[in-house]
Amino acid sequence: MKNRLLIAIIVAIVLAFASVFVFEGQMASVFWVGEFFLRSLKMIIVPLVMFSMVSGITALGDVRNLGRIGVRTLAFFGLTTLAAVALGTVLVAVLQPGAGLDVIAGAVPERVASKESIGFADIILGFVSNNIIESMAEMQLLPLIVFSLVLGGVLTTMGERGRPMAAFCESGNEAMMKIVHLVMLLAPVGIFGLVAGRFGKAVAEGGMDAFWAQLSAVGYYMFVVLLGLGIHGFIVLPLVLWATTRRNPLSYMRGMLPALLTAFSTASSSATLPVTLESVEEENGVDSRVANFVIPLGATVNMNGTALYEAVAVIFIAQALGIDLSFGQMLLVVITAALSAIGAAGIPEAGLVTMVIVLRAVDLPLAGVEMILAVDWLLDRFRTSINVWGDAVGAAVVAEAGGGAKLAPAHEHA
Ligand code: ASP
Repeated sequence: MKNRLLIAIIVAIVLAFASVFVFEGQMASVFWVGEFFLRSLKMIIVPLVMFSMVSGITALGDVRNLGRIGVRTLAFFGLTTLAAVALGTVLVAVLQPGAGLDVIAGAVPERVASKESIGFADIILGFVSNNIIESMAEMQLLPLIVFSLVLGGVLTTMGERGRPMAAFCESGNEAMMKIVHLVMLLAPVGIFGLVAGRFGKAVAEGGMDAFWAQLSAVGYYMFVVLLGLGIHGFIVLPLVLWATTRRNPLSYMRGMLPALLTAFSTASSSATLPVTLESVEEENGVDSRVANFVIPLGATVNMNGTALYEAVAVIFIAQALGIDLSFGQMLLVVITAALSAIGAAGIPEAGLVTMVIVLRAVDLPLAGVEMILAVDWLLDRFRTSINVWGDAVGAAVVAEAGGGAKLAPAHEHA
């Protein structure tokens, strides 16, 4: 069944690309089929995040276990994010995709202008909300995660009196995972709709030639972003996985393929979250107590691909505008790119908007974003897949570090 689903998804993607070559812009009309799949995934995210986090934490049994796992998770997220940004910065500084482009900054794109004033304080404030129900309704996952984390942690300190609520969340979590299995039956058709619909739309905007012209105008920049994402995804993260867990990175990646391909088609880590959780736990056998905690958190704050992309994009903009960045400014790019990746929501093209923080930190004109706007939707798909891959590797690494004798078997929790 699993293999058949994976093959069906791969066939769906191949057919989607083939259909755009044959029917070009007309394929935009099938997007609604993908939208149906996308909505079905999104429909389960809010209860899934809450149930999975609370049940993961209460199953850990002791709030000290949570502390240990929490520290390891944050260390993994922090180190891999910095590694990704550093890699992107070195690549873009060496390969110089923006050199000699000789462009003049135009207007500030509207999407970016509306976020002109977001800053560091907003990222921190984003962790809590005025009203948790409102956050749920608006799918702001970060406050929901913080709330679930605290709720789960508190329940573990309540002994018997915490049991009913913990049991409720455990049962809710199991039910949500069963719904994920049902939704995944739609995946091949949904992914076909998403890919054919979105690429069809891009072609519809001016024909195949205009589409290629748009890509080749910033082709070298795209190459550098993709090269960085490739090195991080196929070399750095697999090495970390192998070195810390002795798992075979290829078979781990194979188990994650449904999630990685869903990330590519939806361009949203949040929408992919149900599939990521399923693939990590059921395909790759990672301890669900750890995965239930690491994966929802990772889908919102751990974005290796976005961090790398922001560094490359900002330095590319500086190069194209003929602005030299000092070493200190480069360092500032590294730090702020990591921060704005944490601040980016797991939704399509969120990274483009939080890039404002990086641009402002080194005094670059926000209008520079204009240059990379046309291809952002495409690069978004690749970076989202790397974001999800980073979360998946993180779950395995943290589970290994917190596993064995250090973590009591699942049935012993209170
Ligand atoms: N779309 C990305 C994600 O959901 C965020 C980004 O725009 O970089 O992971």
